Amino acid sequence: MTRPTLDDLNRRVSAARAETEARGETFYPGASRVHLAAFPPKERWSDWVELDSKAWPERVERRYMLVPTTCFNCESACGLLAYVDRDTLEVRKFEGNPEHPGSRGRNCAKGPATVTQLTDPDRILTPLKRAGERGEGKWEPVGWDEALDDIAGRIRAAIDEDRHDEVMYHVGRPGEDGFTERTLAAWGIDGHNSHTNICSSGARAGYHLWMGMDRPSPDHENAQVILLISSHLEAGHYFNPHAQRVMEGKKRGAKLIVFDTRLSNTATHADHWLSTYPGSEAAVLLAIVNHLITTGRYNKAFVERWWNWREYLEENHPGEPVTFETFERALRDLYAEYTFDFAAAESGVSAETLAAVAEVVAGAGTRLSTHNWRSAAAGNLGGWQVARALFMLNALLGAIAVPGGTYPNSWNKFVPRPIRMPPRHPKHWNDLTWPADYPLSLMEMSFLLPHLVREQDRRLDVYFTRVYNPVWTNPDGFSWIEMLTDPGRIGLHVALTPTWNETAFFADYVLPMGHSSERHDLTSYEQYDGLWVGFRQPVLRAARERLGEEIASTRDVTPGEVWEENEFWIELTWRIDPDGSLGIREFFESRERPGEKMTVDEYYGWIFENSVPGLPEKAAREGLTPLQYMRRYGAFEIDATIGAVYEEPVPDGELDDVHVDADGRAFTRAGAPPVLNVVPLPPLDGDGEGRRRVGVEVDGAVRKGFPTPSGRLEFWSRTLAEWGWPELAVPGYLRSHVHRSKLDRDQMCLISTFRLPVQIHTRSANAKWLNEIAHTNPLWLHPRDAARVGVETGDLVRVETGIGHFVVKAWVTEGMHPGVVACSHHMGRWKTGDGPRQSMATVALNREGSGWGMERKRGTGPFRSNDPDTSRIWWTDVGVHQNMTFPVQPDPVSGAHCWHQAVRVRKAAAGDNYGDIVVDTAKSRRTFRRWLKLTRSAARHSPDGTRRPHWLLRPVRPEREAFRLPDETGNGGRSAADGEARSGRGPQSDP
Ligand code: SF4
Repeated sequence: MTRPTLDDLNRRVSAARAETEARGETFYPGASRVHLAAFPPKERWSDWVELDSKAWPERVERRYMLVPTTCFNCESACGLLAYVDRDTLEVRKFEGNPEHPGSRGRNCAKGPATVTQLTDPDRILTPLKRAGERGEGKWEPVGWDEALDDIAGRIRAAIDEDRHDEVMYHVGRPGEDGFTERTLAAWGIDGHNSHTNICSSGARAGYHLWMGMDRPSPDHENAQVILLISSHLEAGHYFNPHAQRVMEGKKRGAKLIVFDTRLSNTATHADHWLSTYPGSEAAVLLAIVNHLITTGRYNKAFVERWWNWREYLEENHPGEPVTFETFERALRDLYAEYTFDFAAAESGVSAETLAAVAEVVAGAGTRLSTHNWRSAAAGNLGGWQVARALFMLNALLGAIAVPGGTYPNSWNKFVPRPIRMPPRHPKHWNDLTWPADYPLSLMEMSFLLPHLVREQDRRLDVYFTRVYNPVWTNPDGFSWIEMLTDPGRIGLHVALTPTWNETAFFADYVLPMGHSSERHDLTSYEQYDGLWVGFRQPVLRAARERLGEEIASTRDVTPGEVWEENEFWIELTWRIDPDGSLGIREFFESRERPGEKMTVDEYYGWIFENSVPGLPEKAAREGLTPLQYMRRYGAFEIDATIGAVYEEPVPDGELDDVHVDADGRAFTRAGAPPVLNVVPLPPLDGDGEGRRRVGVEVDGAVRKGFPTPSGRLEFWSRTLAEWGWPELAVPGYLRSHVHRSKLDRDQMCLISTFRLPVQIHTRSANAKWLNEIAHTNPLWLHPRDAARVGVETGDLVRVETGIGHFVVKAWVTEGMHPGVVACSHHMGRWKTGDGPRQSMATVALNREGSGWGMERKRGTGPFRSNDPDTSRIWWTDVGVHQNMTFPVQPDPVSGAHCWHQAVRVRKAAAGDNYGDIVVDTAKSRRTFRRWLKLTRSAARHSPDGTRRPHWLLRPVRPEREAFRLPDETGNGGRSAADGEARSGRGPQSDP
């Protein structure tokens, strides 16, 4: 058979399009431009017929209803279409939703694997209450009513007795935009905790300090040069939506530059792969910066208009003329030390290669899209400077919020105003999440919780974990076990989870929550220069409603007694405040039926009707209500192009009695216009005379500018300078804690920040397809290092960290930088007794004082269940839980955990067995205190007596008064840091 030519394919597509459109149906051209790759026309989503692939070779027809929802297997929130069997009302499979503007019908392997999570024979189907000691593995079923009353009673008592800071909600993957944060705000507690500081805080800090927004939204599709610091094409942030746009950019001729120490799948697609030594990334980026400056190939007009260079000169070059020429001279001087030779020595990449890459960047003009999220920013002490140095390339070229450049996230994200907006300003400040030692952290110091609880001698009466598994995901898991098993520290631990996990084993209640096709949520993410809202919904609820049924509660359509969180929080809130006397219940009261509970239909129906511009009109054109439209299509694009918001003139209607200060910031007496998009942005101070900040004057016009203190891009950060870090106030390079000069001769750097493309932290534990594809995490080792250690692929090695060691298999590969080893963090799931059988090893935990050991009894294997596939499990390996052996290493500025480890790699000793873990938690406490000494606490360095700069982003922001330090010394486990802060030691010091 001859292969069709491109012309043949194009002809087929045109013919298929004409045919489909002649029937009055939507035509979805597939990614390959072949009609076969397209999707069922949306006009036939209520009754779609397909042959059953499992019945092959018989031709058995199945009738489906196609119902959209949103994937929950990473943060990308891609659209899914559930294929609901019309005869049995079962979900048979998931495919992509072509109506979703972010994912455009495409998914990674984890999207369709959702169906295996629904049918997992080990999923939790009933609320459970602990029946033995915590962690003993004894459970008994409990009714929702009993559990809700118990939890609500304790929360109510905490509120009544002014113990607000004893209630904490700790979330891993939120997967929604603000519902739960608003619930906590309604309760009046500052109890939100996140996973962000083991993930993206480093990058967020770098971006936020530049532009007042904490994420990049790169336009890869239209870029001329794409620069990624990560293995972004296989596992990055907004993985599938971005990966498809990177590939489209490449097809249009864009050059792809990848910084990745490993030869990842992403690196194999690069035009320029730089295997940089971990932590040297900022040195390389600043060498490119230096090249742009010294060759004069930067966008001077943009820099002059939008950087806060005047402020920089006034503060740092007093007495010199405040002219752009002076600034250009200062800029040249500042970065002159970052030569290609210097960067080559730091990174291990040749100066010639770096010079060639710098030329590629210099040729990008404004079409340079760049991205760093976890990776280097999450691995290193000072990782936040990697993001700051990377974004400086965009800022130099003017490649910000222009086609092919990098946009700020908040302008490409839409969080619709909800039906009721509780006060977003609790009166309380929680030192357990926002200790005064880390006044600039983005976000909560979540991974330090066991240490802070101990240092501050604190107790949590009600502690929720939700899609969060700190015992396994965080560093220092044994310290978490010590905290969770201590009733003096944790009164009641409630785990909200669809799946068993290592943290839920130590809970008091395990409450089963729905997977992505069993719950309601709103999502919206910055995946291109547009604005969209996605709707996650329980697909069987939507399917049965389409068939004419009335569904009062999502519990009526979920398996067993599984529930969804929206309805759970509404119910819990009502039980905390049953008569409304606390003023809490009102936020979940129906508007349509005063005095009754709000339903999810009313909640989302109101939002879609009133807060999403253009949706009611579009729905009406199809004869649908806005809620029906979203239940039918799952997503709505509000705007396809946003553009350079900072350049937009402030409308005349918002300008009244305008005052422009010496820095060009404009203030107005006009009231703020109503906003439908409540995406969090930094609050900007007024002029103290009743005017609010409205923009910044540039070229004689008041423009919207950036939400930073200066209104411009902050090359120099007054915040850093005034809060104790003047030497780090401009983008720079900090030698990481794993810099070669800081390692002993026999130590290497361990990279633990990468993940396998088909794994999903905790949630892939019950996805059988994904486990079959990837179920081990060997240690990547260069042949030279393997020879030195004396091992070959498959041999056991012992990897020694600062607090213990783990035993893992070696994988010898030239795809690794010599002197560096790497191990994926998505593996090594374990249980001590009953629990998921397809992905967790069974282990014994041994403890002697602060000494802990984990010993593997057996791996996974085949077992009989109602799913015949479980008897076909052919693998036994589940990988090794390396994170347990990592101490906490908090960056003193961003608060991010610095994941890279200084390790010794040895051939396994006699008696070492695969999967062994040994840890001393006394050493982890000592490591915590060593790193704490690097901080510069608000108690010593706050310029205004507050705990944190008011403008920095913060979820559930307390009211202004709560920002004040309570006394001269502040509070919050900071005492160990203060002495060192006075000595002026910074992060260049060894922890
Ligand atoms: S990238 Fe994959 S896992 Fe993430 S939301 Fe999309 S389909 Fe789901």
